[in-house]
Amino acid sequence: MKTNEQNKSPEADYVIDLTKLHGSGEFPCPGCGNEISPKDDKDKNYQILQPQVEDGTNEVTSILIQCRCKKTLRLKCRRKNKIF
Ligand SMILES: [Zn+2]
Repeated sequence: MKTNEQNKSPEADYVIDLTKLHGSGEFPCPGCGNEISPKDDKDKNYQILQPQVEDGTNEVTSILIQCRCKKTLRLKCRRKNKIF
């Protein structure tokens, strides 16, 4: 088990910038390679821990999720991008 210093943030193991992804936004978990698709939360590959809504709006700007490998990932998304 090694910790990733480069991508570390105070609250998540990894930070994923969804605005830099193509397609529908799926990406492999950096920890285990598990494919995570933000649009499909039915298969329970991950768990949404905390959607973060910008003050004064209803727009979700980042979301903390936990992969099935127990790594936490912060997903940054564009404003008005209603992927979740
Ligand atoms: Zn994982």
